[in-house]
Amino acid sequence: AINDNLGINIGNQLLRAVAERLKDKQLDDVEIARFSGDEFIVFLRYSSIDNCITVAERLLSRIREKFSFDELELYLTASIGISQPKLEQTTAELLIQNADVAMSKAKERGGNTFQVFTESMGVKYEHALHLRNKMQTAIEADSFEVYFQPYVAANSNKIIGAEALARWPQADGSFISPAEFIAIAEQTGQIVPLSTLIMRKAFAQLAKIQHNSDFVMSVNLSVKQFQRENITQLVSSLATEFNVPLHRLQFELTESVMVDDAQQVFTELAELRTIGCQIAIDDFGTGFSSLAYLNKLPVDVLKIDREFTQSIYTDPASQTICKAIISMAHGLNKHIIVEGIETTEQADFFKRLGCMGLQGFLFYKPMPFKQLDNLLN
Ligand code: C2E
Ligand code: MG
Ligand code: MG
Repeated sequence: AINDNLGINIGNQLLRAVAERLKDKQLDDVEIARFSGDEFIVFLRYSSIDNCITVAERLLSRIREKFSFDELELYLTASIGISQPKLEQTTAELLIQNADVAMSKAKERGGNTFQVFTESMGVKYEHALHLRNKMQTAIEADSFEVYFQPYVAANSNKIIGAEALARWPQADGSFISPAEFIAIAEQTGQIVPLSTLIMRKAFAQLAKIQHNSDFVMSVNLSVKQFQRENITQLVSSLATEFNVPLHRLQFELTESVMVDDAQQVFTELAELRTIGCQIAIDDFGTGFSSLAYLNKLPVDVLKIDREFTQSIYTDPASQTICKAIISMAHGLNKHIIVEGIETTEQADFFKRLGCMGLQGFLFYKPMPFKQLDNLLN
């Protein structure tokens, strides 16, 4: 937030000021390092846990004190994770990972506090940590793939576009589900390089689809991308590189994106639209910000979440909600794509209501590009 709002220069000054405060004059045998972005490591040699806690409390209160730069006054809080070597088998790496786990716990508790690592924390986070490391290797080795799920026009059942979906293949031929790794990638920020990889692949394939000039490629975006990079710049440079027309690109984001930093996101979305891309709200109806924002949102399409689709014949409330969403969207000149259609009854229900697009296993499952290409030719 500081880099984005006050500039990198202030961000850097602040990092230096924080580092200064970490130098604890009451300790002599200490090493301090900047680990990444806004993370520091303080290494206390031969220190008891009690002593670590005393130091942590001292550091927390020191970080809480006001930072001043010229006219600016800034207040920060820190979250501290403490870990201790356990007998002979501890490596530096494990020590850092454990401290990281404990730090996440401190953040979960609202921050401005410390947590001491315990083995029970480890079990819960072990899987996530393992995935995070594995994902890093996979990103560097470029081993992610993209599958494409076609969606059809409701009035003709013809393919009008496809959604690009990340796939992480494993050595045994299975895939780790995006439902699992996207969430971790968002927490760790790895979603930013990962999304670029996915976009490159999706754009490269889109460029090969020549005959269907209206075919739209839809790519999922994550909130982290809005915080960390200029999406419009990225999209337009990749579109140029792969020679794809911008009007054939659609970007999907969930409602939760709107909650965090609405103004910045609005601006960015409006920019994407100005250069010709379409914007869709994904999983529409599952967040809570929708109604108030809908009128102002620079979006073209609402994608009705499969939770609603799949319960229209079991839960009367779902029908009511779907009808309301659809008539509201039409009143605001927005198109609807319905997700998760698995039966002809569901398809018919949404066709009757005049939805533009239908997506789901009834029509097509996500597939490799070759298969999509065959369908289109
Ligand atoms: P999503 O964007 O809502 O994508 C639709 C998900 O619903 C896909 O799961 C798709 O396989 C599944 N689906 C489609 N039709 C049906 C159906 O008829 N029945 C059922 N049961 N499921 C259906 P997938 O591929 O596992 O992706 C899960 C989520 O992961 C996506 O939800 C999206 O939020 C995220 N994701 C996937 N790829 C990316 C990516 O490249 N970037 C980002 N930021 N997120 C991604
Ligand atoms: Mg999506
Ligand atoms: Mg969805």
